[in-house]
Amino acid sequence: MPGYEPSGLRMRVMRHGGRGAQLASHLLAGWFTSRLEAAFDGETRWNGRRSCLLLSFDVDFPEDVDALPQIVDQLSALNGRASFAVVGRWVEDYPDEHRAIVEGGHELVNHSYSHPELVNAPGRFVSRREDLNDRKWEALSIEERGAEIERCQRVVAETLGVTMTGFRAPHFGNVDPRPLYPILNNLNLHYSTSMLAPRGRKLGLPVMEGDVVEIPVSTCPLHPLSSLDTWHGLYAHGGWHKDNFGEILSKRLHTAHASGGITNIYLDPKDVGRIDMTPVSEVLATLGDDCWVTSYHEFASWFRSEHVR
Ligand SMILES: [Zn+2]
Repeated sequence: MPGYEPSGLRMRVMRHGGRGAQLASHLLAGWFTSRLEAAFDGETRWNGRRSCLLLSFDVDFPEDVDALPQIVDQLSALNGRASFAVVGRWVEDYPDEHRAIVEGGHELVNHSYSHPELVNAPGRFVSRREDLNDRKWEALSIEERGAEIERCQRVVAETLGVTMTGFRAPHFGNVDPRPLYPILNNLNLHYSTSMLAPRGRKLGLPVMEGDVVEIPVSTCPLHPLSSLDTWHGLYAHGGWHKDNFGEILSKRLHTAHASGGITNIYLDPKDVGRIDMTPVSEVLATLGDDCWVTSYHEFASWFRSEHVR
């Protein structure tokens, strides 16, 4: 990426990446969080609102597919649009469940055809399917990754009649989406949401990368280098927030609103039933129209209109 020169907090995260930085971030959560939130100037309005919630669900396993009808029902109560990152092979196998997402008014996001590095690991990821693709995404050549993205795009168009407009890399936490921007551009995929905020060029602030908007994913307010997702909340280290994950999510929404920023999170559908979402509903009711709850597609369309001349 020409001109890409990581610096400051982001550089330290990338250089030290693993456990040391994680431990420091846990001990210095307040400091890290305020550094991350400083990316937002408190003045920027998100389509006229003070803060923004981008809620997404990664449909990685057949078990996630099973949970889709219930989630679409729950979302209709929230009255907001959400985005579902879908895997081409599961769309082929379970078209009706995926069609229900579209009929519920939500968005589909390209999440590759086979979701490479999908492995069964008891206590972590378990699928009733055995024929998973256990290759690592980063081990695929750029051409192979492009073929995965293109095939997912084609399957969803043929099966559901939907043309997706954005992409999320499989297991994106530790992968670099930047080499894929030309491929996304060629496939008319206008956004990517494949990078954690601490690694973002402007931390959590969305940026134009050529013609592609990269929308960074938010991290946990108490563990600011960890993605605020169901794996982190319910499984990592026995589940950092397994008893109060709904409260942690609502804390994140308050933090974003205070800084005038964005909350961009994803949940695994199979685990949503384990979360008490009452605190989230309460915060959203309090913030009302001052928090823009929208899909990536709507967000990226608005962002491009503001930033592309
Ligand atoms: Zn946490």
